[in-house]
Amino acid sequence: MQFLRTRRVAALFHSALWGAISAGARISALLAAGILLGSASASAQLEDDFEAAAPEGEVTRPTEAVRGQGIRRRSVGCSILDQTAFTPVEKRKAERPLSAIQGIVLHQTGFRRGSDADRYRRVTSHFVILPDGQIVKNHPETSVVWASNGFNAYTVAIEFAGNFPSARGRWWKPDDYGRHRPTSAQIASGQCLVHKLYFDIESIVWILAHRQASPRRGNDPGPDIWYEVGDWAVAELEMNDGGLGFSINGGRSIPDSWRTPPGER
Ligand SMILES: [Zn+2]
Repeated sequence: MQFLRTRRVAALFHSALWGAISAGARISALLAAGILLGSASASAQLEDDFEAAAPEGEVTRPTEAVRGQGIRRRSVGCSILDQTAFTPVEKRKAERPLSAIQGIVLHQTGFRRGSDADRYRRVTSHFVILPDGQIVKNHPETSVVWASNGFNAYTVAIEFAGNFPSARGRWWKPDDYGRHRPTSAQIASGQCLVHKLYFDIESIVWILAHRQASPRRGNDPGPDIWYEVGDWAVAELEMNDGGLGFSINGGRSIPDSWRTPPGER
């Protein structure tokens, strides 16, 4: 518990510090993106081929920031199942150099089909983390896929398989898509993959939530994944979530409840 409290304070301090040193630039970015206080549904959406998260509006970056130095000195290895030879190539909309990748976006699929990688081939993201913790690579990092709306051009997407609840403990269409919680194996693999990507791709600065880029993804990836992987990366890897209040194109910022340990929300 002491660890959690310390981590939370550190994360908030980090966000506040970043906000202070770059407030001007951030406000400009928000104005450029036409950010207003959005009123939007908090429902999750299926992240399969039923609906691609196409770019909406302009590509918008949070702002420039200095990469944290923290734990990135240490490389990590994660076991990754490469499915890129079997996934639909038409989902790869453009190619880019690794150096164009500046962030990682976290998602929940909104459904779960067990831990068989073949059943997730049509999920539009670079990586999918299955309930058993297996990390599946669906598309190369150098391919742009339509996973994260306005973040697509410069980010890598990670989907966690499951229909996860909101901070109020509500599931989206639970009778159809189930009531899931992230497994401890998924969380461990998520941390490992974020750490690995952050170490391997030197241009990465941001750890972002799909929620921040779309008004229709209010609970994406949801508080459990965000706290355990996104907020963890801010605190432990010194990654940057855009700061308090950050969102683009009508998406919504990370709420305080997502930065709060599960038992204290
Ligand atoms: Zn998403």
